[in-house]
Amino acid sequence: MQYYYPEPIAKLIDGFSKLPGIGPKTAQRLAFYAITMQEQDVLDLAKALVHVKKDLHYCSVCQNITDVDPCHICQDKTRDRSVICVVQDPKDVIAMERTREFNGMYHVLNGVISPMEGIGPEELKVKELLVRLGDEQVKELILATNPNIEGEATAMYLSKLVKPFGLKVTRIAHGLPVGGDLEYADEVTLTKALEGRREL
Ligand SMILES: [Zn+2]
Repeated sequence: MQYYYPEPIAKLIDGFSKLPGIGPKTAQRLAFYAITMQEQDVLDLAKALVHVKKDLHYCSVCQNITDVDPCHICQDKTRDRSVICVVQDPKDVIAMERTREFNGMYHVLNGVISPMEGIGPEELKVKELLVRLGDEQVKELILATNPNIEGEATAMYLSKLVKPFGLKVTRIAHGLPVGGDLEYADEVTLTKALEGRREL
């Protein structure tokens, strides 16, 4: 089908098709729209795409994606260093921050344990978490992985793993729909889930 297009267009359609939620029709529409865009807008978009890949890396402390190291949250002296909230991915940090209810630190696993997909704890930022727990400032670990099978399994795994540290380990639960994703929860639900966390 793409032989009908001039090569630059075909390449752009191909590129857009690889994005999540973009089907062939939408990819074609976006590619043709790009032809009509202002040159500066096109350059800015291209630059933003390159920057997101080149200038972002994991925070050496919390493993969130960041362009500065440590990230802004880890650098923030006003935050409570005695609590670490463990989440699955960077979008969950944004969801938690939106609630404005949590003033502790984060740890981003960048995935969850999923035997079906062959993802074990070694693939996650678990080692990095254990290093942080060695710091005696840390008193509580909130396990805020999603309330689905993988999220629960990961929370259970972590709660056992960190037992030797003698911390208070809690799990958010109430208010979040089972099978739901943290990143799609509204602020009220997420705040309630955080307040209603139970000890593991
Ligand atoms: Zn950080």
